[in-house]
Amino acid sequence: SVSSQSRCRTFKVLVIGDSGVGKTCLTHRLCAGQFPSRVEATIGVDFRERPLDVDGEILKLQLWDTAGQERFRKSMVQHYYRNVHAVLFIYDVTYPASFSGLVSWIEECRQNSVGQKIPRFLVGNKSDLRDPRTTEGQVSQAQAMSFAKAHGMMFFETSAKNPPIKRVNGQRGDGEDSYQL
Ligand code: GDP
Ligand code: MG
Repeated sequence: SVSSQSRCRTFKVLVIGDSGVGKTCLTHRLCAGQFPSRVEATIGVDFRERPLDVDGEILKLQLWDTAGQERFRKSMVQHYYRNVHAVLFIYDVTYPASFSGLVSWIEECRQNSVGQKIPRFLVGNKSDLRDPRTTEGQVSQAQAMSFAKAHGMMFFETSAKNPPIKRVNGQRGDGEDSYQL
């Protein structure tokens, strides 16, 4: 008979966005439970996994932490999008260029997922660095929400560094745990 271990289903999530927005820290936080003490630049793709309890069924959450280098990406990009269950588009809330940069990542996703309907999430990371006294030089939540709406995405702001991971729109869950993937 098949053991429960081998039946464990994998939930593949692709983590996309400009260099430096915190993809590696965020995936590390989600899988290891803490902000990494030091990170090295990602080359190609790194995989991080953790069990994920969905209504009593244990899935294997597999995060694909990607990097943008052209020469690696071109040959790999089709593998990234193959059998993917969700895509997280990450930007840095304190670095508007990383928000504008998402347009090309969304286009890459579109080109590589023709005929698939993949749930996509807009994630504004480094919320701990937001300056509450000004919106200057930052991506506002209103701006991000309208972008998410226009592209049919859910929107979250996160911090890989400081808890809690907050959900900004969509339905409220039972508490923090609901958002810690
Ligand atoms: P990646 O290129 O998208 O993988 O970005 P990294 O995960 O390597 O992070 C880039 C830099 O941003 C590093 O110096 C991290 O320490 C920092 N960083 C990442 N996430 C956060 C966050 O949520 N808050 C703060 N304050 N710094 C972060
Ligand atoms: Mg990285």
